[in-house]
Amino acid sequence: MTTALITHPDCELHQMAPGHPESPERLRAIRRQLTESGLIERLELAIAEPATREQLQLVHPAQYIDAIADLHPLHGLNYADPDTALNPHSLRAAQLATGAVIQATGLVFDGRVDNAFCAVRPPGHHAEHDAAMGFCLFNNIAIGAAWALEQPGIERVAVLDFDVHHGNGTVDIFKDRPEVLVCSSFQYPFYPFRFQDVDRPNIVNTPLPAGTDGPAFRQAIERDWLPALQRHRPDMIFVSAGFDAHRDDPLAELLLEDEDFGWLGELIVDAGQRYCGGRIVSVLEGGYNLAALGRSVEQYLKALI
Ligand SMILES: [Zn+2]
Repeated sequence: MTTALITHPDCELHQMAPGHPESPERLRAIRRQLTESGLIERLELAIAEPATREQLQLVHPAQYIDAIADLHPLHGLNYADPDTALNPHSLRAAQLATGAVIQATGLVFDGRVDNAFCAVRPPGHHAEHDAAMGFCLFNNIAIGAAWALEQPGIERVAVLDFDVHHGNGTVDIFKDRPEVLVCSSFQYPFYPFRFQDVDRPNIVNTPLPAGTDGPAFRQAIERDWLPALQRHRPDMIFVSAGFDAHRDDPLAELLLEDEDFGWLGELIVDAGQRYCGGRIVSVLEGGYNLAALGRSVEQYLKALI
């Protein structure tokens, strides 16, 4: 199979306060690991284009996009929420992060690659319809999924979110769009405490207590995601690929190992082959222990390849 890796060097210019865990080092750690392991040789590399305003408006209202643009500082930082700041490069990085997902979706839709992974930041899955939060400005994966639904033959999509935090933004955006299945696994009770109680057939939540290990995690995912995918039969699968459920992650308390992310990749590839000709677009969300992040992405990508 051919797997694209889509990124842009300007995603590393977005930087919040010194010591902020969502740092440019994350993308460098992934690149270093993929280079040292040789895996990068097996990926089709592509440089992201920024998303257009019309593309951002697929899920965010114009006033919200203007409000984020108004926060763009000429120097220093402006805060969108207490965890989420913009420096002079953040707006462009956010447009590139979203643009990467649209580009990935196009490459996969056109059959130029089998699947794609977007190594971008800022992440997106906490960004709600009209609220930035949790290090996220625009909901990259939601915009990619909404864009896919405008392409001929794409009637239904699934968003699978294995970040350790609930994908509240993605749930908010798609809760009234039954053509989008959203499955999110997350530590509970835990940040972000929003949209966790949405009760809709297309929203599948998998709350996991602190201390959940790989075997228990795998069991919960098979129990919740596989029947939901079978019911939904998506034409394309999107993955909010957060790696902060790793046992070494400093922000959370789940106990996944590197290999569990390889297992997730295999499960998703298997579902992709069953339902949608292997059309899978994955997007980086969290993952804050640099060494664990690099190794986990490597395991995940090995499965995609
Ligand atoms: Zn997270």
